[in-house]
Amino acid sequence: MSRIETRCVQGGYTPKNGEPRQIPIIQSTTFKYDTSEDMGKLFDLEASGYFYTRLQNPTNDHVAARICELEGGTAAMLTSSGQAANFYAVFNIANAGDHVVACSAIYGGTYNLFAVTMKKMGIDFTFVSPDCTAQELDAAFRPNTKALFGETIANPALCVLDIEMFAKAAHRHGVPLIVDNTFATPINCRPIEWGADIVTHSTTKYMDGHGSGVGGAIVDSGRFNWNRYAEKFPGLTTPDESYHGITYTERFGLEGAFITKATAQLMRDFGSIQSPQNAFLLGLGLESLHVRMQRHCENGQAVAEFLAGHEKVAWVKYCGLPGDKYYERGQKYLPKGSCGVVSFGVKGGRKAAEAFMKHLKIAAIETHVADARSCCLHPASATHRQMSDEELLAAGVSPDLVRLSVGLESKEDLIEDLDQALRAI
Ligand SMILES: *Cc1c(COP(=O)(O)O)cnc(C)c1O
Repeated sequence: MSRIETRCVQGGYTPKNGEPRQIPIIQSTTFKYDTSEDMGKLFDLEASGYFYTRLQNPTNDHVAARICELEGGTAAMLTSSGQAANFYAVFNIANAGDHVVACSAIYGGTYNLFAVTMKKMGIDFTFVSPDCTAQELDAAFRPNTKALFGETIANPALCVLDIEMFAKAAHRHGVPLIVDNTFATPINCRPIEWGADIVTHSTTKYMDGHGSGVGGAIVDSGRFNWNRYAEKFPGLTTPDESYHGITYTERFGLEGAFITKATAQLMRDFGSIQSPQNAFLLGLGLESLHVRMQRHCENGQAVAEFLAGHEKVAWVKYCGLPGDKYYERGQKYLPKGSCGVVSFGVKGGRKAAEAFMKHLKIAAIETHVADARSCCLHPASATHRQMSDEELLAAGVSPDLVRLSVGLESKEDLIEDLDQALRAI
């Protein structure tokens, strides 16, 4: 199957004669075998098959295979959340004593995971500006650096990552580029085509698309040559004594080593699995991802243009607006559109932003983003409420900032609702 629309609908699952048309939910923790020898081969990773859902489940594997086809990778896995996906993707190759370079414009949860929790595990992070030069990026690398990390479209800063430049820098230093592609989705950008090696997702957002299940995914491009930098990545290129002495790159090749190791070691030990029920819902969401993203972008663009022209709006951030700081990068990496998330400032600061949101009738106040129903958040009075106005500015969240996630409702209704709420301030 070649085109992305067809992959959304039919990727990852091809039923044989008489089998279910829809991906079946295999709601079973275990799988039965006739002999201990049969099962032993699975444990030794000599035969492929299922034995325990913490490691693998057919429903999850079909849905992971669909996401793999969408991103153009060679192997993929689902995780219980986007947080688990980013943790596994980095921890699969970075251990205590190692170092990782990450773009500073990333999701707050990922920032905490890296700067606080993984730091406690002995992994050091250096954060670089999304607008850094190639020289500044080079200067952040150390001999023990194991990966470079960024988000295609940063949540909530809405910066667009220069994926090509970041990929080249990662490869100059012999490490993979990991890109969190949650906001763009593979419909609008496929980071592997721009040189990224590993792609992660919070499938909780547009992929599920209906606010129904928390989940994550990791996709490997199969293109990073672990063997060439074998001394940097011993976990992939030397025998795993916790897995009967298997060497992942030898047994599974460059196309399968990364995901097999993350499944066999990290999923075995941490157990952040997605439930087959949630994987089924995610699979349903993917079937309309191409149709929904188009509409999210159309509505997002219309709302951003309306806000940019409104007298009560101080500023708007949306890379589809000519004049936006990331407009050119958006045209390069996101020619079909970016996403439905728009950030803007209401004139009158914190009080005006709060008053505006109180008057909204369609967009609900939620910490969520990226689903069918429009929603909005005023970080200064919610997620960042403990901060003073000065601290907010330092964190890049101005007191007047409203993050609006534009859903799939009528854009005329949304604009009328925004207009009446702005006028009511
Ligand atoms: C939401 C989000 C995450 C975290 O995902 P969860 O599914 O909530 O764990 C990671 N990265 C980005 C870009 C996100 O928007």
